[in-house]
Amino acid sequence: MNRNDFPILDETVYGKPLVYLDNAATTQKPKQVIDAITEAYRHTNANIHRGVHHLSQLATERHEQARQAVADYLGAKSAKEIIFTKGTTDSLNMLAFSFGEVMVGEGDEIVVGLSEHHSNIVPWQMLCKRKKAVLKVIPLKDDFTLDIKALKSLLTNRTRLVSVAHVSNTLGIIQPIKGVIRIAHSSNIPVCIDGAQSAGRMPLKVQELDCDFYACSGHKMYGPTGIGILYGKEEWLDKLPPYQGGGEMIDHVRFEHTTYNVLPYKFEAGTPDFIGSVALAEALRYIENIGRENISVHEQELTRYADRVLSSIEGVEVYGLGQSRAGVVSFNAFRQDGTLIHPFDVGTLLDRQGVAVRTGHHCAEPLMDYLSVPGTVRASFALYNEKNEVDRLADALKVALQMLA
Ligand code: PMP
Repeated sequence: MNRNDFPILDETVYGKPLVYLDNAATTQKPKQVIDAITEAYRHTNANIHRGVHHLSQLATERHEQARQAVADYLGAKSAKEIIFTKGTTDSLNMLAFSFGEVMVGEGDEIVVGLSEHHSNIVPWQMLCKRKKAVLKVIPLKDDFTLDIKALKSLLTNRTRLVSVAHVSNTLGIIQPIKGVIRIAHSSNIPVCIDGAQSAGRMPLKVQELDCDFYACSGHKMYGPTGIGILYGKEEWLDKLPPYQGGGEMIDHVRFEHTTYNVLPYKFEAGTPDFIGSVALAEALRYIENIGRENISVHEQELTRYADRVLSSIEGVEVYGLGQSRAGVVSFNAFRQDGTLIHPFDVGTLLDRQGVAVRTGHHCAEPLMDYLSVPGTVRASFALYNEKNEVDRLADALKVALQMLA
């Protein structure tokens, strides 16, 4: 699928053609996105919003068009609901600070899932510490999905927000977020969705989902690094205070009193990444040209194929085997005596054979504790991956396991 658009896929590693299976960490960029960055620096580079001169106006226009493109892509009601951030982590920190500032007090509760990325745990933990609030955790069912029934019993009249990932970055499990939103909303509790792994992988419209907040990263959806999104319903964002102070986010500044800008600028202190936004809009166009449904079907097919091929190798255990997962295959290998072969060793030997995977705790240590392993080996797919790359992974894994057994 459009593999030729991605120049880096022609690289070799240790003399072998690169097999890039670390897409949950970051995706590669099509030449359309790389060109958009060069084009913007060559032709429209000027600081935005403040300039009367032509270039500044052009750059402003393109940045705001990019915001509208994000709003359309995510299905937001208005571009005012789209805040440009540095990435998912930045979005979640912004929300935890800003929401926490006015909505959370001593004894209040925030609820997250057990399998969250640290980015969707630690900012809430910090908030809870700051405000003497309580962090509660939704347990997992045996199939690694969030236990919706348990969520019901976790919610109290002190619960202020529920924040969960749409897709687990570690296992690829697609979480029942519609159920989470329905249950939370029935108690008037807002929901934040960590969409880092879903935004580029599957069709999704925030208004249909009815989530209150949604966070994602450009670099995980074929766009540039350093730019991300926090979507928030306008009625929520209106209520929340700014996260950072500085230029752009103000209306008037006096030493006695400062007033703040309107949405979304209230949350965007300083010079924004106006080159990144334009390149992100190009990435979204690229995704939409292929179709999110097609990408999702393709990645799920690869996942099922990898499940079959990898789990047939002796000693290999795939987590969440056969379940509805989005483009991620996490596994471990065990010796005949049942001892774990360290994922780092497996990853290193795969790399020597040109296969790039991620190993470790994947920024989800509580989930690793739950699985009672120090880490896993994770292969994750993107639209350009092919079945023969799964075969290369499997062949390389067999070689690695022979060496490590
Ligand atoms: N949440 C999830 C589910 C993720 O996969 C990631 C990235 N691995 C993040 C949050 C953090 O994203 P970023 O590093 O782009 O801020």
